[in-house]
Amino acid sequence: MPHSDTLSSYRPHDNSLLWEGPVADPGAVSAAVARARSAQPGWAGAALDDRLAIVRAYKAEVEANAEALARLISEETGKPYWEAKTEAGSTAAKVDISIQAHAERTGSHVAPFKADPAAANQALRHKPHGVLAVLGPYNFPAHLPNGHIVPALIAGNAIVFKPSELTPAVGAFMASLWARAGLPDGLLQVVQGGADTGRALAAADTDGLLFTGSATTGAMLARQFAETPQRILALEMGGNNPLVVWNLEDAHLDAAAAIVVQSAFLSAGQRCTCARRLIVHDADHAPLLDRIVALTERLIVDQPFADPAPFMGPVIDNRAADRLLAAAQGMGGKTILPLLRLHEGLPFLAPAITDTSGLAPADDELFGPFLQLIRVADFDAAIAAANATRFGLSAALIGGDRALYDRFWQGSRAGVVNWNRPTNGAASSAPFGGVGLSGNHRPSAYYAADYCAWPVASVEAATPHLALPAGVR
Ligand code: NAD
Repeated sequence: MPHSDTLSSYRPHDNSLLWEGPVADPGAVSAAVARARSAQPGWAGAALDDRLAIVRAYKAEVEANAEALARLISEETGKPYWEAKTEAGSTAAKVDISIQAHAERTGSHVAPFKADPAAANQALRHKPHGVLAVLGPYNFPAHLPNGHIVPALIAGNAIVFKPSELTPAVGAFMASLWARAGLPDGLLQVVQGGADTGRALAAADTDGLLFTGSATTGAMLARQFAETPQRILALEMGGNNPLVVWNLEDAHLDAAAAIVVQSAFLSAGQRCTCARRLIVHDADHAPLLDRIVALTERLIVDQPFADPAPFMGPVIDNRAADRLLAAAQGMGGKTILPLLRLHEGLPFLAPAITDTSGLAPADDELFGPFLQLIRVADFDAAIAAANATRFGLSAALIGGDRALYDRFWQGSRAGVVNWNRPTNGAASSAPFGGVGLSGNHRPSAYYAADYCAWPVASVEAATPHLALPAGVR
């Protein structure tokens, strides 16, 4: 983004201007936090049912505007329209899941106090943190920030949300749906801008920050937050995810190829859970690789609304495409399918596979349609290769029997471990997060409720009542 006071967002598929708006400077960020701060106590003090009525009205707004939201997501990210519609669906579905998670994980419980059950109760209740910052990524510009915002509002927090600088229009549209749902003024502030605005928001007077984005940014935020350990920091970051194929029956070769292709190239490889490394048995991988290559060559890469519908669109912008092309070239190895720019001046890439067996490429997340093939001699080596990463987000095994999968599950260091299913497409009704550089042990999705509120334990008696235990003359 050029340094200016105006933020512009372009459609990746044709580079046309989609949205423009002012960049929030540090003063505007502080003012937004102050507005959120003064609105929050009234929201936290309202009855839960009153908050839930507004959150449900937001769900109705998302559903009523699902087509417009999906179109905007497609225009701003380049992802296929069919896929953007699933994102709009997940955005609405998050509401019921979050209401259930709030009740189950951060609800209130009252029981007789063990030490004095006749006179006192012990109670567990939760309180919101106050004002929470939300920083969103571009790849799911609605669903992922929404995954922080909905549970945080249910818990009684106010939000200052900075969408990705690459997807400001989707962020602004989501905020307009909250306003239409009747969310009181001040509770959801949107500040637009890039890393500078993000830094200003992280430094502002909030009670915490909920982040989804790259490990590089997450690590910077962790350093910044080290100075204020009293503020909560939830980090959802990237991965360098392994997909192991082992002991596969011939009858399952086509299904396995489909799982590999979907794992690696869905959303043009721009999902945190995409498979980056395909680990196979050196001795018998050829028939599978043939099918993967054949299927990859048949994938339609086109603009989001094209007919026939594309499997994948462009990556987010030309800078991302250039970075990916340079990283692929610098990796070495044997090219099986080259990473190619399909249209001069636009970020459409042909999905690529490179055999990096025996090399030690940098353990970085290449956030695009690029898959490494790694051939190994035995299953222990496959598990070791799968875990040879600083990240630990998702992993999957294709093939084998239950005993082999149990070995894989036991040996895998990742927060999502699947069997005969892609590495991506996690269930929103499950917790979602990773270990290593993929997160800071504050998983999101179903467990987002946990980082949106803090527990208060109480022992309560209607009248003062205590006899000292001993030692009184
Ligand atoms: P990013 O880290 O570049 O940006 C994320 C957000 O942080 C943006 O709003 C950005 O403006 C802001 N930001 C950037 N630098 C900052 C700084 N120094 N201080 C404060 N804020 C800053 O990530 P991205 O490129 O938008 O998204 C792709 C990344 O997100 C990938 O690494 C992907 O794996 C990850 N991701 C993770 C999950 C998950 O749930 N684990 C989900 C989706 C995407």
